[in-house]
Amino acid sequence: DFVTTAITMKGTRSEKDAPALSQAEMKKQSMQEVRRSLPIFPYREDLLAAINKHQILVIEGETGSGKTTQIPQYLLEDGYTKGGMKIGCTQPRRVAAMSVAARVAEEMSVKLGNEVSLVHDCYTNTLSVTVPSSRLKLSVLLSSSVIIIDEAHERTLHTDILFGLIKDIARFRSDLKVLVASATLDTERFSCFFDDAPVFRIPGRRFPVDIFYTKVRLYLNPCVLVCEEIEACCELLQERCRRLGSKIAELLVLPIYANLPSDMQAKIFNPTPPGARKVVVATNIAETSLTIDGIIYVIDPGFCKQKSYNARTGMESLIVTPCSRASANQRAGRAGRVAAGKCFRLYTAWAYKHEMEETTVPEIQRTNLGNVVLLLKSLGINDLIHFDFMDPPPHETLVLALEQLYALGALNHLGELTKLGRRMAELPVDPMLSKMILASEQYKCSEEVLTIAAMLSVNNSIFYRPKDKVVHADNARMNFVVPGGDHLVLLNVYNQWVESGYSTQWCYENFIQFRSMRRARDVRDQLEGLMDRIEVEVVSCQGDSVPVRKAVTAGYFYHTARLSKGGYKTVKHQQTVYVHPNSSLFEEQPRWLIYHELVFTTKEFMRQVIEIESGWLLEVAPHYYKSKELEDSSSKKMPRKQGKTKEELG
Ligand code: ADP
Ligand code: MG
Repeated sequence: DFVTTAITMKGTRSEKDAPALSQAEMKKQSMQEVRRSLPIFPYREDLLAAINKHQILVIEGETGSGKTTQIPQYLLEDGYTKGGMKIGCTQPRRVAAMSVAARVAEEMSVKLGNEVSLVHDCYTNTLSVTVPSSRLKLSVLLSSSVIIIDEAHERTLHTDILFGLIKDIARFRSDLKVLVASATLDTERFSCFFDDAPVFRIPGRRFPVDIFYTKVRLYLNPCVLVCEEIEACCELLQERCRRLGSKIAELLVLPIYANLPSDMQAKIFNPTPPGARKVVVATNIAETSLTIDGIIYVIDPGFCKQKSYNARTGMESLIVTPCSRASANQRAGRAGRVAAGKCFRLYTAWAYKHEMEETTVPEIQRTNLGNVVLLLKSLGINDLIHFDFMDPPPHETLVLALEQLYALGALNHLGELTKLGRRMAELPVDPMLSKMILASEQYKCSEEVLTIAAMLSVNNSIFYRPKDKVVHADNARMNFVVPGGDHLVLLNVYNQWVESGYSTQWCYENFIQFRSMRRARDVRDQLEGLMDRIEVEVVSCQGDSVPVRKAVTAGYFYHTARLSKGGYKTVKHQQTVYVHPNSSLFEEQPRWLIYHELVFTTKEFMRQVIEIESGWLLEVAPHYYKSKELEDSSSKKMPRKQGKTKEELG
């Protein structure tokens, strides 16, 4: 995501002829005092001198020391924006980028969007990887005097890609300053990668944190890992507090996670009223990228939700795994910023020592690279095998990405970007999804397909199923079912919501999550805004489901499954898979299906499935499927010889 957001500061500050407004002045003064109190402040001159002296500098400092909010301002004050140049600062997380930009603008007493702007783009973070925005950012890069790669220790996919790109750019732009800012982790590696760039260390001001372990592993109920769980946990806490009534001091329970609307996010920074206590229930966004003042206690469940990728099956999944020791230490560190603190780890000291990995595996080594390959190719970087990766992705992942892009028609047999590939690279979504959107042009159903793409990207959080109203919720859901499959159900939900006038009440009555719908609408608007650029006309197929299903097939033909004994088999890997019980096609069991994704819970489940005809596969991917392997010989009733399918598929 991070390439999607950057802070730039440009121009010099406009002299404001402000009348002596004492309150504003006072606020400004106290803000300046806060700035001067940060651990980075005593090092301001030394830091600027080091930046002046070296082209590339690694800056290491404890979370909260002032790297993100102060360095851009120091650079501005030191004249780095002369001649209309910008100071760019990239953030791996959109939330952090917004909060930081707002904070910097506030400290400078300017309006966000003038001197300080978020050069972000058209996307929400539900669509994570972004090609055009990266290009946008590259243009920012070219007009920048300094580029700060912030939160480098997070090692997100895009940070890693940016490392390689910027190292290259810095070679032929000797006037560009590169600052790699990181929490106290891994900085030697950054220095090493950037040809032994010096490391500037900002000594932390840290109070001791006592660490407590449990005797046995404890599990939070519910485990605090993703947004719904965060919300559920908040509700649980609030419920407990209500029951305790006046027996305890007022407890403010505040969630924070990436998709939380920004007005809600801002609340975590508000000072706690006297006598009250604040509890922040957070994803690992609070690990290093946001600093919340005044935290004394940290409860660490010891898990994280991590993307993992199986290059053989092409399956990407989010898995709950123990976090790394480095993460656990960062989490504990949140408790000791303003006073001595305590960290309660819900796992044993033994598990910390023996079960946790030292550091987190960089994302680039556990993700599908389809998007990255498309991005790099569109930037003219053809030889990906020799790209300067800090930690190269597994070879087979790279090869699979190339293969997939070839099958989708985005690359030709020489591995060069095709015209289709160039258009796909304009969309900030997964290659299969962008292929689906582009195919909607041919089938004249872009209106519908854009909605489906947006609904798919909000990730299974459309339907609301409260425990005390399961029957009502399931009935409401049944009312949306239309023939053909889940994609069409999602389309139906969205269209009815539009008809209701985007009503909150309508969502409430139909057990639909308003927040998810609003996000889908944002994503849809943004995608629609891009249709011009890729020259796709937005037209509707007026209720005919065939064109829509063909467009889905054109993008997802890799994800075909056919009915076989007791379940389904994927055509590509002969993997046994099942229709998810929540699917509208759970009972119907059509012969041929396309699934949006595979998830493993108790079994390998296909989530979001749509019924197709096998003949369409030949129509949309003639280079990929042979008619022989798609013969409908395996009808439900026919006894099947062992190994037949394998032979058929060759
Ligand atoms: P670092 O990047 O080194 O982790 P930051 O520059 O993000 O540190 O934060 C420095 C200090 O600025 C924090 O300790 C906090 O007091 C303040 N701060 C940062 N962001 C905000 C915000 N959005 N609202 C209020 N205070 C903030
Ligand atoms: Mg920071």
